[in-house]
Amino acid sequence: MRVRCILCEKIDTLNDETLLAKRLRNRPIHTYMCETCHERIAQKTKERLATGKFRFFRTSKHETEW
Ligand SMILES: [Zn+2]
Repeated sequence: MRVRCILCEKIDTLNDETLLAKRLRNRPIHTYMCETCHERIAQKTKERLATGKFRFFRTSKHETEW
């Protein structure tokens, strides 16, 4: 299946059998984020954590793997 990153609008092709593809099929497609953007967000989250103003809630393992 083809998915578009919500941030940079890059089109990625996912193997339909992957967990991520299965999950996206059950959710609006705009929840997809490419690896590059995901890394960028993760970095921003770390920076916010460093300021101490951002309260981080640990999400389940299933939600954090991508
Ligand atoms: Zn992206």
